[in-house]
Amino acid sequence: MQLLEGAGVIEPRLNAEVLLAHALHCERSYFFAHPEQELREIEWIHYGRYLNDRMKGKPTQYITGRQEFYGREFRVTPDVLIPRPETEHLVEAVLHALPQPAKIVDVGTGSGAIAVSLALEAPHHKVFAVDISLAALKVAAGNATALEAPVSFAASDLLTAVADCSLDGVVSNPPYVCDTEAPTMQREVRDWEPHLALFAGIHGLDIYRRLIPEAARVLKSGGLLALEFGFGQAEALTELVAGWRDVQIRSDLAGIPRTLLGRKP
Ligand code: GLN
Repeated sequence: MQLLEGAGVIEPRLNAEVLLAHALHCERSYFFAHPEQELREIEWIHYGRYLNDRMKGKPTQYITGRQEFYGREFRVTPDVLIPRPETEHLVEAVLHALPQPAKIVDVGTGSGAIAVSLALEAPHHKVFAVDISLAALKVAAGNATALEAPVSFAASDLLTAVADCSLDGVVSNPPYVCDTEAPTMQREVRDWEPHLALFAGIHGLDIYRRLIPEAARVLKSGGLLALEFGFGQAEALTELVAGWRDVQIRSDLAGIPRTLLGRKP
């Protein structure tokens, strides 16, 4: 723990515990119940390697290969963004806004967290997921299989490969970080997470500028657009959906505006 603290890792104890549990192939609760347990040599070796990686800034989730999202465990690799808790709001908003059976596409699915959660929470929906990264699609498809979620995957640069123009929903947590923010970002994010999934031009809006008109093309009239966005982007994003109906902005648990909903006119 002191090693991690000294290396500037936030929440050093929690990180140390998670990595130790990973080395022991057990739950964190196990070693609280068995404080007398000694580590075998092989476990020390693994734990040491994990601590070393973590001190170099590698996110704990890429070391354990796991992240929980919407109550399920997803496999994550450095090919995909680590799902964030605030993105659960996006899933919830879509479930609420589309109560009837619907055809939905998740754009830039990454680990597949959004698409898989939607497919499992609302089995009456037909869920598609696209990503420009083949490596990410492999991770997402692996998660769908492991969690038994009926999601159809395809490689696509945003919605360019989607021909169906009668969709009920387009959902996306696209890259939205400003390029200029890189120097002030946490090293765990900047140095380890895929830049393709993070950065979107000097204002972080480049992907929205392309995605919103493409969503208008594939959605049927009244279809739902649901987007996650970053700190301070609500106003600019609202301008980008000028002409859409029932535009709503929702805040995350930290009170930060985070989700935009709109209906195609
Ligand atoms: N929420 C992520 C972060 O700021 C960014 C995710 C994204 O660009 N979609 O770390």
